[in-house]
Amino acid sequence: MQYILSLDQGTTSSRAILFDKQGRMTALSQKEFPQIYPRPGWVQHDPDQIWTTQRAVLKEVMAKAQISADSLAAIGITNQRETVVVWDRTDGRPVYNAIVWQDRRTADLCSRLRKQGHEPMVRQKTGLLIDPYFSATKIKWILDHVEGARQKARTGRLAFGTIDAWLMWKLTGGRYHITDVTNASRTLLFDIHTGRWDSDLLEVFDIPEAILPEVVPSSPVSAQTEPALLGRSIPVAGIAGDQQAALLGQLCCQEGAVKNTYGTGCFMLLNTGQRPVFSANQLIATIGWNIRGQTTYALEGSVFVAGAVVQWLRDGLKIIRTAAESETLAGSVPDSGGVYFVPAFVGLGAPHWDPYARGAVLGITRDTTGAHIARAALESIAHQVADVIEAMSADSGIPITRLGADGGAAANDLLLQTQADFLQIPIERPKVLESTARGAAYLAGLAVGFWPSLEALADQCEMDRIFRPQMQPEQVAQKRAQWKEAVSRSKKWNIES
Ligand code: ADP
Repeated sequence: MQYILSLDQGTTSSRAILFDKQGRMTALSQKEFPQIYPRPGWVQHDPDQIWTTQRAVLKEVMAKAQISADSLAAIGITNQRETVVVWDRTDGRPVYNAIVWQDRRTADLCSRLRKQGHEPMVRQKTGLLIDPYFSATKIKWILDHVEGARQKARTGRLAFGTIDAWLMWKLTGGRYHITDVTNASRTLLFDIHTGRWDSDLLEVFDIPEAILPEVVPSSPVSAQTEPALLGRSIPVAGIAGDQQAALLGQLCCQEGAVKNTYGTGCFMLLNTGQRPVFSANQLIATIGWNIRGQTTYALEGSVFVAGAVVQWLRDGLKIIRTAAESETLAGSVPDSGGVYFVPAFVGLGAPHWDPYARGAVLGITRDTTGAHIARAALESIAHQVADVIEAMSADSGIPITRLGADGGAAANDLLLQTQADFLQIPIERPKVLESTARGAAYLAGLAVGFWPSLEALADQCEMDRIFRPQMQPEQVAQKRAQWKEAVSRSKKWNIES
């Protein structure tokens, strides 16, 4: 039993990664699958493609590492969150495509529910906001639009699941209909205080209880794969949503520990220990994980456009050819030359929450070059992250003294140095940037005794580099103030359209 296999089912691809006892990545396999955009604002996946790509990478990674199922101690699952699948229990067939977390088709329903005054109760029980992002209104949409679905749902013939539950159903040949607490905590149907589905929430969102999966801890999970899949049964022993798994994968196990994933957007989670923290700045309270009956909570904030601003420099402005070139170009000037770039392409998320804000570049003079714009673009990522981290600190009363970085854009040294400067705290970049898959591996490995305890993992998160603040605090204060001014000018821009 040399390995834990992590299944990382993401928004654009399915991955399978093998981890050894030292927490090292031994082999990785990845397959993309199609995104389905039937109308503007709608995003769907084919649940069967999710499963077939996931099964294919599972087999491929074992072939790559030349191992059989006998070498696997357990499997862990981590997944894109909030995305919903509804299927028929009798034949395992989805009744509709998966509606993806990005899908906005239920925006009107959400504003209606908010107007009806449900938000305070929903917020108090779930830690979330009423928004199409979360699962509940997507489930309702399927039940209301697929012929016969509501009737079948009431009688218990249909099953709902987030992607973890769908994979679990498939891995176990339909013997388990379960989801873990972190995924449940993103549905708007789950009370994060009691750890149960909640009848008031089910009523508000008009969802029959009979379709819900059983909620289990993140670790241990006691399911087994069906023997035909790998030649023998393997325990599926740990589950968590992707951002929570990344928090654990970076070993942010102590209260006050915080990680940021620098991807297309940025996702920050702060470990708030044994209590959920309710935000005054529209951040989200969520379950970090439940390990052996002990729930750890997290405060979460997201930035919509982060690495995507670098994509725009490449594909829109065409001043770089690769994302990595952003560092060379931005590094060719000592600073942004007074240029501020607010990449509010799709409005602003936490803590500003302005859907009408639009992108702005301010402070351009005759001397401004593409390099200054590139530098301002990288700085904009660091500024947005700093805005959320400051809000988190204010909400939780927890001083944030270090930040763990992962995700594709965390490869950019200049970005992480700028982050350390703006936050005036060290930014820690681990050697393995696959924190998400690693977190799922930890949950599974802890469950089956592959690793004895979280404490025993402490030396596994080897640092690649720690970025320490170098900029003078006065200069930081001036830049942060000017950024906030730039943000204020980008707000409420698109209000008439
Ligand atoms: P996601 O999981 O959201 O698809 P990834 O973690 O794979 O994102 O990161 C991809 C994002 O990171 C892209 O938006 C890309 O522009 C950005 N990115 C990748 N490498 C770099 C780099 N060296 N510097 C800045 N941004 C980068």
